[in-house]
Amino acid sequence: MLAASPDLVALARSQIILLTQSLGAVASAIYITENIADGMPPNLIEVAVFPEDGVMALPEAFSETLPLAMGSSGLVRQRRFILPLMYEEAILGFLMTGRDDRDWQEYEQLQIQQIANTLAIACALDRRNQWLVANQQRHYEEQSNFFASLLHQLRNPLTAIRTFAQLLSRRIVESDPNQKFVTGILRETQHIQDLLNEADRPEPLLLPQAEHEKALLPAATIDLAPVNLNGILDAIANFASAIAQDRNIQFLSNIPSHLPKVLGNESGLREAIGNLVENALKYTPERGYVLLGADVKPDTVYIYVQDTGVGIPDADLPRLFERSFRGRQADGDISGTGLGLAIANELVQKMEGSIHVISQVGKGSTFAVTLKRSG
Ligand code: ADP
Repeated sequence: MLAASPDLVALARSQIILLTQSLGAVASAIYITENIADGMPPNLIEVAVFPEDGVMALPEAFSETLPLAMGSSGLVRQRRFILPLMYEEAILGFLMTGRDDRDWQEYEQLQIQQIANTLAIACALDRRNQWLVANQQRHYEEQSNFFASLLHQLRNPLTAIRTFAQLLSRRIVESDPNQKFVTGILRETQHIQDLLNEADRPEPLLLPQAEHEKALLPAATIDLAPVNLNGILDAIANFASAIAQDRNIQFLSNIPSHLPKVLGNESGLREAIGNLVENALKYTPERGYVLLGADVKPDTVYIYVQDTGVGIPDADLPRLFERSFRGRQADGDISGTGLGLAIANELVQKMEGSIHVISQVGKGSTFAVTLKRSG
């Protein structure tokens, strides 16, 4: 809803004092208009009224004459004066004033017109300023979301590199001259991880007065084409089994060897399914199981990630795909950003597919991605 800024309110009050003290007005009011549609009465938002208890019963006193004032240069009636605040042909508000003891002289009407002109310019500047601030805020939020998504997408490959380096480090003996290179890889990946953790805090990217409303993910479009799922799922299974081994989890895969092509985007699918697998490994304790599988249906291919992990409470399920939502895990020891599922869902929807989840606390979860077959 439109609201007058404190500056506009201050200016309106000063103009009302002017009307009262120099012209003897006994009651005055200044309103800004919102949503003026043809033939509809305007929605009036109060900016300043004198006297505040409305001795002259404003705006009721003017309500019957208000429609007449619109579009005209003003209306004098029964010693009450109503002027639209016009700027570049638009009515931005109304100035209403009145006195009981005498009619308005022409020179006084001119003065009131000048006050209305001043107020109209102030209203226009106020609106422009509010529009600019809202636009700037939207721009900041879009940028902030874009970077948060990008940083999140760096996590999966980074985790994979670290895990491969850890496994390599264990497989080569300490005296091996290559050990120092592996140690170097581990140190540098840890460094990048620390930087990413630092950047995960969204506050610095938002304007201080930001409305913390849930923003949308970046509206980047993705190219859709027939995609070969086997290559993608094999690569994910490869890094998932390395991570699972490291975390003492059993990773299993059940992927038919010649899956039909689906409508999608290769890197988008790698990201979306990678996020689901990463979550399954993250929320499954040691000695648990994670299964990545695929099933072919007449029109779709169904990819599922099943785990025997901590599960998700029913209360969390409706909000699971919201950006920054972590539900029960927000108070837990497992760190996260609440972005992975939102990104996965956004990507899969852009591929005209869908993600569904079933889960039971203490038993585990299954996330299923349904994609359209293409050809
Ligand atoms: P993050 O894992 O970084 O918190 P996500 O967007 O990937 O963010 O997931 C959102 C929330 O959904 C998690 O915080 C967690 O509460 C829940 N969740 C997602 N996947 C699983 C899973 N496999 N098992 C249990 N909880 C999960």
